[in-house]
Formats: sequence, C-alpha cells, structure tokens
Amino acid sequence: MTRIRILERSVAVRIAAGEVVERPASVVKELVENALDAGARTVTVDVEGAGLRLIRVSDDGGGIAAEDVALAFQRFATSKITRLEDLDSVRSYGFRGEALPSIAAVAHVTLTTRVPDAPVAVRAVVVGGSVQSVEPHGAPPGTTVEVRHLFHTTPARLKFLKSPAREQALIAEAVLNAALAAPHVAFRLAFDGRTPAVWPRTSLADRAAGALGARDAAEVIEVQAALPGGLARGWLQHPQYHRPSRTAQHVFVNGRPVHHATLRRAVEQGFAQLLPVGRFPAFVLFLDVDPALVDVNVHPRKLEVRFRDDGRLFGVVAGAVRRALLTSPLIRQITPGVVPAAPASAAGPLPEPAPVELPPGLPALELAAREAAGAYPRLAEPRLPTLRPVGQVLGTYIVAEGPDGLYLVDQHAAHERVLFERLRAARVRGGVASQVLAMPLPVDVTPGELSLIAGYRDQLAQLGYDVEPFGTGTALLRAVPAVAPDGRCDDLLRRAIAALAGEGAGEDPLDRLAIATACHVAIRAGDRLTHEAMATLLADLAAAEDPYTCFHGRPTIVAVPRAQLERWFLRT
Ligand code: ADP
Ligand code: MG
Repeated sequence: MTRIRILERSVAVRIAAGEVVERPASVVKELVENALDAGARTVTVDVEGAGLRLIRVSDDGGGIAAEDVALAFQRFATSKITRLEDLDSVRSYGFRGEALPSIAAVAHVTLTTRVPDAPVAVRAVVVGGSVQSVEPHGAPPGTTVEVRHLFHTTPARLKFLKSPAREQALIAEAVLNAALAAPHVAFRLAFDGRTPAVWPRTSLADRAAGALGARDAAEVIEVQAALPGGLARGWLQHPQYHRPSRTAQHVFVNGRPVHHATLRRAVEQGFAQLLPVGRFPAFVLFLDVDPALVDVNVHPRKLEVRFRDDGRLFGVVAGAVRRALLTSPLIRQITPGVVPAAPASAAGPLPEPAPVELPPGLPALELAAREAAGAYPRLAEPRLPTLRPVGQVLGTYIVAEGPDGLYLVDQHAAHERVLFERLRAARVRGGVASQVLAMPLPVDVTPGELSLIAGYRDQLAQLGYDVEPFGTGTALLRAVPAVAPDGRCDDLLRRAIAALAGEGAGEDPLDRLAIATACHVAIRAGDRLTHEAMATLLADLAAAEDPYTCFHGRPTIVAVPRAQLERWFLRT
C-alpha cells in the first residue's frame, strides 16, 4: 500500500504555482498589480519572446526594505493583510502572498528594489524558488522584477500555451486592464524592443474612451447608477461600433478586472435591439461597492467575484445602461474617417418580403393613424430633430433635411419601429384594435399550427387577431390588427403563427408576435411614398421611444452632418 506523505516543499510550491501562474500574461498581471499596490506612478513592462524569454516590470513605487526581500519570496508572505478580517476591507490587489513565490517556482527571477530613503538598491537572485543571493546594486528608488525562462522547469505547461501572437495579446490585455483600473498611473508596454504602447496619466473617462478605441467623446456614452452599497460607472461605446466578440468588454469590481457573466449580460441587455443579431457592445464598467458585499477571494487569480445579490445588480445595471443609451443621440453619423461597422454577415440578410405595388395613399400608414388616433404615449421630448422630407431614393430611403444636416431614413425599418412601439403600447393599454374582416378567411394550417393557435388564443386576441380552429386542417381568421392593410391576411396569420412557434426576434411570445406583425404590416422597400406619408412617418419616428434602430438592430436613420457635407465639398 502506498503511504501518505507530505509533499516536499519545492514540489508543493510548484503545484500551487500552476493556479496563479497559468501563462505569461498572469505573470505580467501579478507584477503590475504589485507595482500598483506599491503606489507606483509609472509602470514599464518589457516583454521578449512572448514572455517566455523575459518579462520585466519596473516601477517607481515604495520598494521593499532590504531585510524583507528574501521574505517576499516565501509563500503567504504579504505586507497587505495581517488578519482574516482584513479580507472584508481589502483594497489592494494582492493579499495572498503567493505571486512572487509562485513565479519564482517556475522561472528565474531577479528582483531589484530600493526604498526611497535607502542609499542603494539591493538585487535578489532567485533560482528554483530559493533565494541565492541578495546584494547591493545601483538602481533608482522603486522595484524591477525580471522573470526569465518562464516554465523551463515545467515543460507540460508550455504545451498548453497558445501561439506567441495570442500570448502577446493576452499580455497586452492584462496591461490594458491595469491601465483602466489606474488612470493616474502612466504605463508603457514594449514587445521585443519595439516601439512601446504608452498610456500617459489621465482621467478615468479618457482612459476608458482610449481603451474602447474611441476617436472622440461623442462616440462614448457615460452611465452612472447607484447600487446597493456602492456605485456603478461605465463608458459605453456608441452602438454603431459593435464588435464580433466580447473582447472589448471590461468589467472591474473595486478596481479589479473580473470575469462576471451576469454583469456583462446586464450591459448587453441594456443594448437590446440596438445591435444587430450576433454582435456585441464595447464598454468599460466599474463597480465600486462596499468590500463586505463582495467576495473577491473565490479564485487564486481573483478573476471571479461573488455578490450578495446578483439579481438586483443585474436589474440596476441593465436599467441604467438602457436609460443612458436611450437618452443620448444614437443616430449613426457619417463623420470624417469613421466607417460604421457593418452588421454581422453571419446573421444573414433579413427576410424582406418582395415589394408589392400599392395604390397611392399608403393604406398601411393611414390605417395605423386611424387605429392609434394619436392615443399612443409620446415622450415629452421627441428623440429626433424636426425632419423635413425632401424625397425618396431607390423607393426605399427617405431623404430628409434636419436643422444640422442631411438625414437618410430606411422607410421599412422606420415604419417597423413605429408600428412595433404602437402595438406594444396598445397591448399594455388593454389590447390592440381589431379590424373585422368582411368575410371570415379560412387559412390552411398544419395540426401543429392549429394547436399553437388554440394555445395562444388569448395572446393573439391581445394583439388584435381573432382566429379559431376550423376542422382539422383549417383556421378561420375573423379579425386582424387594425394596422394591417387590406389583403394578404393569410400571409400575416402565417407569420404570426411562425412567431409564436419561436421564429424571429424577441424573447417573449407576445413581443415576437408584435414584431412579426409590425414587420409584415410595415411599408416595404420599393413602396412609393407620398410627401405627406413621408412627413407622417418621420414625425412618428421622432416620437418613438427608441427611434434609432428597428428591433432587428438595424439602423432606421443615418445622419450626414453639415460638417461632413462641408468637408466633402471643400467648404472648410
Ligand atoms: P501579495 O501581493 O499578495 O502580498 P506577492 O507575492 O505578490 O504577494 O508579493 C509579496 C510581497 O512583496 C508584497 O506583499 C509586497 O510587500 C512585496 N512586493 C512585491 N512586489 C513589490 C513591488 N513592486 N514594490 C514593492 N513591494 C513589492
Ligand atoms: Mg501580489
């Protein structure tokens, strides 16, 4: 039988090191955080060979007293907490006293340090986790840690690393996160002696805008919200700069970068319908909360945190983001040098029904006007400037003049938005007005569709549909929402059923039903509009609660500001 034994210290340390030092970027993160904890004003990071040859982090912080240097490489040696209770109020990055010993267990480390009042620095050389020497050395106040031959003793670890380019990207992300958390500190990061990336000391707002790649303040929307026991501050990039992945989402809790799915989803929820399907917002979110309300000691790399009340937090953050977005001007601007991101091709083209010839006078708009009779809620302030229609191009886009330039409106997307909000408002008020068909219309349906109709009869009624099963393969449609134009009612019902079956945008079946209805009923690309119809649509859009996108996240309106026109025509 194999006997139980306590592992030799060097083996145990190396095993534990794996938790802290997963890859070169984790070394960078730990060393940079130590520099910040030491009160550095400037942090310089040099990396060679994607961090495997050299990682050097220099700071001008408080340094380590010569007599403590060897101690810093002992496990659980820390200057940051002394008692377990201190964890409830910890504000420093470090507190576990694990980083230096863990790094030293898997690399060659030299640490050069000088406290401000010491006449000379000392340099410690650490090999295989044990301090070989501590000797006087010429260096300015502060600390420089050099990590060479990372993972040379643990080849298994090397196999799990990604490509050098990917590891470099992760290092850059670690430094960016530190830079975001500490805008009052200057950072430099250089790979293989090339020109460094530089973050000069600045305000948090500036750092955040820089991290998002924003070119000017108008691209970034600030959000603030009071939390139970704290405050959330965020900078959201304008929805037009959506991204294919979540890499431009940075979440910090008490200055610590964390992975927190609930918080990310809360922000994304705030962006709902403002982004095309499959695209992600870019943002920086800082939560400052009473340390007693969060647990940061969930994970050795401290990437996770737990909150006392996740659900409440979600609601507050999502709501604040939504309000901030909907109260800022969200019209896409064609501005010098900025090309709005294209919607994801993965989402595919939207199903656009074939254009149909409509008699002049636009039944869809007139009926909509009749149904609403001005009764749907209007915001006190219209969200768009007053727009005067100039004309229509390609039968699809309304050209309009505003006080400050030219506007283009996608007539279908805009009308979808208007109708959707109107249906939603009517539903909330107690039901959407119906239009009884002159003759009940039999529509062929499958047995599955029939059971959906039976199951969702109330919801259908709320949206103005009166439909009932009629035999085994037929449904009888008696009334449709009053906004529907005459004709094509069987198509309308089929789309409504498909929406109930789960097709299309929207989580809630009633929302999906409203969306499908609005989409079907809205004027189409290719429909010719009278001047009056255009004016009505623009006014209705301006009164919408969220006039900037249709519910598929496509823009309804694009602006070409006066400054851009002047630039094009060389008038400036
Ligand atoms: P922790 O940060 O959790 O305390 P570390 O192993 O990262 O543990 O560091 C151990 C100790 O070494 C720290 O508590 C601190 O006192 C000291 N130290 C490490 N890096 C620096 C630095 N750059 N400047 C000053 N002191 C440092
Ligand atoms: Mg540390």
